[in-house]
Amino acid sequence: MSVYDLIVLGGGPAGYNAAACAAKNGMSVLLFEKKELGGTCLNVGCIPSKAFLNSAKIFNYVKHSESYGINVENKGFLSQADVVARKNKVVKRLVTGVKAQLKGAGVEVVKEMAKIVKNENGLFAVSAAETEYLAKNILLAAGSVPAYIDVRGVNNGLISGHIMSNVTIFDLQFIPDSLVVIGGGVIGLELASYFASAGSKVTVIEAMPKIAGATDEAVTAVLQKALEKQGVEFKLSAKVFEVTDESVEYEDAEGKHSAPADKVLMAVGRKAFTDDLGLEALNVEMQRGAVVTDAHMRTNIKGLYAAGDINGKSMLAHTAYREGEVAVNDMLGHADDMNYNAIPAVIYTTPEVGTVGYTLDSAQKAGINAKEVTLSLMYSGRYIAENTDYTGICKLVYDADESTLIGAHIVGSYASEYIVAVSNLIDLAVPVDRIKKLVFPHPTVVEVVREAIFEIE
Ligand code: NAD
Repeated sequence: MSVYDLIVLGGGPAGYNAAACAAKNGMSVLLFEKKELGGTCLNVGCIPSKAFLNSAKIFNYVKHSESYGINVENKGFLSQADVVARKNKVVKRLVTGVKAQLKGAGVEVVKEMAKIVKNENGLFAVSAAETEYLAKNILLAAGSVPAYIDVRGVNNGLISGHIMSNVTIFDLQFIPDSLVVIGGGVIGLELASYFASAGSKVTVIEAMPKIAGATDEAVTAVLQKALEKQGVEFKLSAKVFEVTDESVEYEDAEGKHSAPADKVLMAVGRKAFTDDLGLEALNVEMQRGAVVTDAHMRTNIKGLYAAGDINGKSMLAHTAYREGEVAVNDMLGHADDMNYNAIPAVIYTTPEVGTVGYTLDSAQKAGINAKEVTLSLMYSGRYIAENTDYTGICKLVYDADESTLIGAHIVGSYASEYIVAVSNLIDLAVPVDRIKKLVFPHPTVVEVVREAIFEIE
């Protein structure tokens, strides 16, 4: 029986990127994927939601075309079935691309669920469809699955399809009159933004006093106001206690309430998927349901690595790509490690949110002598030229002792595309004085970052 240098369990961003990277570096690689290559991100996450949100953005432009000097007489409607059909084409094209990439790199792909069954004499045995395979290294990249709250009506609602997850919602063929979103995190907000633009009456019920988790409060406030203007209603510090066929029942400081719901989206987070991988028998160290890894993506078992959502660290596709590369570099003996302080995060609502690194609060809690500067995006000529709502802001957080950037929090157009400029400056620890000498293209919205840098003394 041949021995692979690497067996990868899971074909999402962590798994397929690591597999391609390992194969290009001369390793023999076998990858198991039980569903479709591309994982959550490509099939039921990042990509489908971006296809949806782009349709919403275009529809919003049509609805408000007069603001831009364009007279559209019949504003039309958004055809959800056509949006879903287009999304399916986009996904198919990208999945085909991943298949071709792996084939080109020489990775063997098997469409099966696989499980580690033995770890002896420096070799792992993996079983799939009653066949055993051997490998020197294993990369766990099995991703995550939606989490659900356990209250009355949820089980039945999930079975009947009345309650949708962030997986099933991407095949919904119509726009419900009313949609209740449970959870005001990234998924909840992106889909609330989409369905409100498409014509649903959307209510978001969030357990915490603010939306968007740990996102900077000033940025969150701008985002919440903008979404409210689009028709999204927020119920904060609210606890759901029942879901019926027509409503979501919740309680807040003022008492019990009922939100009418033709459909419900459950968006209360995702959890690492670790079932049936053989991890218990191997005594793999776990914490809060996720596989524990170090900065090289090693687990507590020699030769066993974990990258992507399964380690519960960052749950972002771009983190997963990088973690996969770090794991492979460690297997190859090349020095490499993860820097989690410079990972950008984006919320693709309108307006977009782009964040990276520390907020002022989290930096001060970490003992850093941190300061911040905030500028309106109106410092950018392009922003004013292209928008009708001027509420966007750019906040930079810096280490006053080191004179380096340590965080950026931006809400407004193109934030998703240019937050990487700031995350690179953070990752490379470029001194503020040096950043002041960099040239930014004009007119662009990212010029606000340059303006904000000059506010730092
Ligand atoms: P999340 O953790 O971002 O948000 C879940 C929200 O649900 C939180 O605000 C939480 O307070 C709330 N919540 C939990 N229990 C609740 C309850 N009983 N009632 C009301 N609210 C409750 O999770 P998500 O939005 O489901 O996203 C899952 C993962 O996918 C995240 O890790 C996210 O980073 C990732 N993701 C990223 C993107 C992106 O990068 N643009 C997009 C989608 C998803």
